[in-house]
Amino acid sequence: MKTERGERSEAKPADILRKPGPRRGREHAIRGIPVSPGIAIGTVYDTTEVPTEAPRRAITPNQAEAEKARLAEAVSLSRKQLGKLKTRLSVLPEEAQEELAPLLDAYVLMLGNSRLLRGARKRIETELLAAETAVQDEAESIATLILAARDDDKPGLQRRAGEVREIARRLTRNLTATPFRSLKGVPEGAILIAEELTPADAALLDPTRIAGVATDEGGADGHTAIMLRALGIPAILGATGLSESAERGDMAVLDGAAGTIVLRPGDKATEKGRAALAAFAKERSKLAKLRRLPAITTDGEHVELQANLEIPAELPLIAQAGAQGIGLLRTEFLFMNREDLPDEEAQLAAYTVVVDAMGGDPVTIRVLDWGGEKDMQALSEGVAPTHSGPNPALGLRGLRLLLKRPELLEAQFAAILRVAERGKVRILLPMVTNPSEVQAAREIYERVARRLRRKGVTLPEKLPELGVMIETPGAALAADAIALEADFFAIGTNDLAMYTLAVDRAEAEVSHLYDSLHPAVLRLMQFATEAALRLRMPVSVCGEMAGNPRLVPLLLGLGIRCLSMNASAIPRVKQAIRALDIADCARFARRVMEQSDPARIHELVLNFGTGSDKG
Ligand code: PEP
Ligand code: MG
Repeated sequence: MKTERGERSEAKPADILRKPGPRRGREHAIRGIPVSPGIAIGTVYDTTEVPTEAPRRAITPNQAEAEKARLAEAVSLSRKQLGKLKTRLSVLPEEAQEELAPLLDAYVLMLGNSRLLRGARKRIETELLAAETAVQDEAESIATLILAARDDDKPGLQRRAGEVREIARRLTRNLTATPFRSLKGVPEGAILIAEELTPADAALLDPTRIAGVATDEGGADGHTAIMLRALGIPAILGATGLSESAERGDMAVLDGAAGTIVLRPGDKATEKGRAALAAFAKERSKLAKLRRLPAITTDGEHVELQANLEIPAELPLIAQAGAQGIGLLRTEFLFMNREDLPDEEAQLAAYTVVVDAMGGDPVTIRVLDWGGEKDMQALSEGVAPTHSGPNPALGLRGLRLLLKRPELLEAQFAAILRVAERGKVRILLPMVTNPSEVQAAREIYERVARRLRRKGVTLPEKLPELGVMIETPGAALAADAIALEADFFAIGTNDLAMYTLAVDRAEAEVSHLYDSLHPAVLRLMQFATEAALRLRMPVSVCGEMAGNPRLVPLLLGLGIRCLSMNASAIPRVKQAIRALDIADCARFARRVMEQSDPARIHELVLNFGTGSDKG
């Protein structure tokens, strides 16, 4: 474990130089958004320091214009990223702002009409180099010139050379769109630090190797957060200023439940971290004992607890957690981190593994919910080029895309239908706003089933149920109409809160406004739940709310009897259920639903069972 900064500064001058100096060496605590509980004590692996060396590429003369356009796009993306970092500086202490603001300004200047960009464009034209190769060559040549200058201020020269290399790295990362490929090299037991981690990056993390994750960007209920929770990796997101303050090799103590990371901890902070780690392990083993006990309230009401699954690597965790099936299989993992689309056979193989692993317990497979923050390379190239339109979350997302490209839906339906004989399978449609979308999907579904039967494939006599995610205010308010077309509902509170409150679930900047307990969200949930219950149609909650033990009394009180959550949350939720009485929950929910002030609702939820919730 390296804690000596001097050593590294000699080994990699450019990397060291990009970080401002004065605070280095001192303990530095940073607060972020708590995302995945657990304690990590380890050395920092800062991905922003990875020298991004893209393979050298030559081009033909007729590709030069396109390469210059790619470069322009990467410049504009880099400007946007830096602008975002800059706006968020205001939440940092003044001292830190004074250090970081000029650095960011210097980077932005280099993205203007700078020597770096002029030189890179020239190299594209005259040397016929790909944009990333041209940028790297030009940056190296500028840095070499700077370092060779006759000037006594050697540290100053090194700093300037480091800045040029750093901006070239950012451009290269954006040009190659493979920012975190270096994740494979993360040393065992490290705490991964990045400006931003996409859901696709998170899917590549190996929970047995990585002790913890902390990033500058991100919100509590974005897909990156969900993925980290699913993998059981202690994590905090939205920790402003983190990647600028941390350096590879630093020691750090991360507390995923408290939402803090202490860089270069002193003895006291390290000791506190160790004690928290021991307490967390003890609590885990206590909860593990609940695995075989049923999720039954004190008055005998049974609650179904299921797991959400984002990648097959979670299957063992699901088994350990004592889940009664999978309530939400997010199939996006099949489409991530690949350049082509998985065909019917590849999907069939993946679903077979999951259905067989669940040994007869129900598996609810959601068809592809691509779009919004879930960007997938294979799909962005050609399949849905409009994805990155002005409002990706409001664009061609989820079922909308699938109805526009029915061959995707047909392949997925066919693969799911072919696995249906092996277990209890249900199908879930994401991002529905209109009953006619469900009708259209059902028509395709039945057509695919007829085709398979004609081909001699044995399908269950009664086809798997086709359910609908209630995750937009439109779907929630039209739940009575949609219920007539659906076999079951799954309430997706993550998107429901995002769309109701017009707050991006993955955006750190507005995370203080993201609130699933806002009365508007709760009223929509209540309306949709009641629409389902009136028809005696199954309804579950599968958003992140379902995994919060404090919210269980409210959800049960609203009539929900099936919760699907990340597997590691199941024991705590079960513990909560086993201490509850349904009549109490119903009374409590009525009281909560009378409130109009979100703060008061939070207070009631926090105080449930203490007497002060009865008012
Ligand atoms: C939701 O929106 O609540 C949900 C469960 O779906 P996802 O998080 O995958 O968007
Ligand atoms: Mg959703």
